[in-house]
Amino acid sequence: PRILGIESSCDDTAAAVVAGDGSILSEVIRHQHKIHEPSGGIVPGIAAEHHLINMPGVVSQAIEQSGLTIEDIDAIAVTRGPGLPASLSVCINAAKTLAAVTKKPLIGVHHMEAHALTVRMSSSVPFPFVCLLISGGHTMSLLVRDVNDYKLLGSTRDDSVGEAFDKVARMLKIPWLHGRGGGPGPALEQLALKGDPDRYQLPVPMSKRDTGQSLDFSFSGLKTAVAKYIDLGQVSLESEQDCADMAASFQYTAIKHLCSKLSKAIAAAKDVGSSPTALVVSGGVASNQQVRLRIGDTASKYGLLLVCPPPHLCTDNGVMIAWAGIERFRKGLFDPYTIEFRQRWQLEDLKDMYST
Ligand code: ATP
Ligand code: FE
Repeated sequence: PRILGIESSCDDTAAAVVAGDGSILSEVIRHQHKIHEPSGGIVPGIAAEHHLINMPGVVSQAIEQSGLTIEDIDAIAVTRGPGLPASLSVCINAAKTLAAVTKKPLIGVHHMEAHALTVRMSSSVPFPFVCLLISGGHTMSLLVRDVNDYKLLGSTRDDSVGEAFDKVARMLKIPWLHGRGGGPGPALEQLALKGDPDRYQLPVPMSKRDTGQSLDFSFSGLKTAVAKYIDLGQVSLESEQDCADMAASFQYTAIKHLCSKLSKAIAAAKDVGSSPTALVVSGGVASNQQVRLRIGDTASKYGLLLVCPPPHLCTDNGVMIAWAGIERFRKGLFDPYTIEFRQRWQLEDLKDMYST
């Protein structure tokens, strides 16, 4: 099939056309980094306003660049949730209307399922696989049994790792990068390249006896520890070296925590009787090179092959929604034109909502 994917769950407006063999026929994305940088984070109302402005152009460009007409497209896939309500309402209404008018099948996609399945577009990763999703709104480890069939292993008890990168970047007043691969997280990664990760000692979250065995993650304590160093004047925001050293120390510790809890999740996945051969890591933070490197070591320790989407497909995009649409199309998982967005939506609930 050839599927149009539409995404606007957070701050990027994106659309793409992807074919069943995994070839990307077109890809259009509009970022809003310049708009949100002054406030230090995404302002939901402003994000939605720009989706409303950008959506018609993004979708029509995606169709045009694919060299197809809407008639040649087999189904329309759209992010149904989770995400910011005002942002989600823009993409879901665009997709529903387009599908209803053209009488094409509609496929409502769980945004995190799309992050999880992207790798299968270009490599033949078989089910089941272990998956670590590390993004702006989520941090979780999963056993992916099939399309639509997920078992949650661990998830964050407070902030996501992406949120922690964003908040620490803000505390250190690091200017955002712009355009593709932009935002606060990539800016922190760049600055950390010039820093010494051993300069500041930060506590590895949930490593004590009471929480050490848990598969869950936690990032708010780490963020607070960084704030304390700044408050005590041990990191001078005037000193680029201090900021780089703290960026490197924070990144080092955050990854250490990810790897430690991931090890436990892999062991747990093997315990429930499944024999995964691959570890898939996706979501915006998976575009970080240090993350990929060190998680790769953890994967190989457990005999798993690490597979990540190319960095630009780790952050939000339309291609991943179109591809998840293809996977769901093949299973016959369609939705009526009356569906609404879901602000909160657990991946584990998919199996009961849709039967294959
Ligand atoms: P979710 O997928 O949970 O709904 P989202 O869609 O907003 O959240 P993504 O686009 O998948 O999130 O990822 C964005 C997050 O990834 C941001 O927090 C961003 O700072 C972080 N991020 C992106 N690139 C990097 C990087 N190179 N290093 C660290 N963090 C990064
Ligand atoms: Fe995302």
